[in-house]
Order: sequence, then structure tokens, then C-alpha cells
Amino acid sequence: MTDCIFCQIAAKKLSAKIEYEDQEIIAFDDIAPKAPIHILIIPKKHLESVNHLKAVDSKLVGKLVLAAQKIAKEKKIDRSGYRLVFNTGPDSGQIVPHLHLHLLGGGKL
Ligand code: 5GP
Ligand code: ZN
Repeated sequence: MTDCIFCQIAAKKLSAKIEYEDQEIIAFDDIAPKAPIHILIIPKKHLESVNHLKAVDSKLVGKLVLAAQKIAKEKKIDRSGYRLVFNTGPDSGQIVPHLHLHLLGGGKL
């Protein structure tokens, strides 16, 4: 989706501080961090939200969580703790309609 900002970040058409990348997913610093460490982990393929996941996406979702675990360890917040969040739909405050996992940590939340 060319008008999706996270698809543009995944395609390197929009810049972001990339923390992790492989063939299927990319992780980058949130532009407006709500914690000392605030990283967004997304699938490169456009999926709107948790509501749009299908059984075929289950491995991909697992990869997002395992990437969060790996980044948390690299950032040395695996022992102090962190929060993982998938905002889904209007009441959650989801503003970007491309599935993303928030990794928040580095201080008391
Ligand atoms: P949501 O509220 O949809 O779950 O979270 C979207 C997040 O994306 C917000 O925390 C917001 O700060 C972040 N964000 C929005 N636009 C951009 C952008 O262009 N670049 C980056 N790196 N983060 C963004
Ligand atoms: Zn997208």
C-alpha cells in the first residue's frame, strides 16, 4: 500500500531508525516515544490490525513477538521488564492502520 506510512518505512521510502530487520519484519524507533525505549515492530506485508489476521499469519505474529524479545535483550531491558502492545481499532487509539507491536521499556511504565 503506497499511501501507508509503515509500508513506506518498510520499503525505505521514509526514513526511520531501524533496530532490526529480516525478510518478513522490520523494527524501528517510534517517532514520538512514550517511554525511554519505544520501538515498533511490524510485518513488511501490509496487514491492517489484529482484526485482519488469519491462521496463515500465525507464524508471522510469533516472529514479531520473538523480535521484541531479541531487541529487549539487546537493549538490556529483558530483566528490568517491558510492555508489548497491539493497539487495535478506534477505542485503543490505533492511528496507523498497519499492524505494529509496540515495545516499551527502559523505565517504570
Ligand atoms: P498506534 O497508536 O497506531 O498504535 O501507534 C502508532 C505509533 O506510530 C505512534 O506511537 C506514533 O508515534 C508512531 N508513528 C506515527 N508516524 C510515524 C512515523 O512516520 N515514523 C515513526 N518512526 N513512527 C511513527
Ligand atoms: Zn502498510
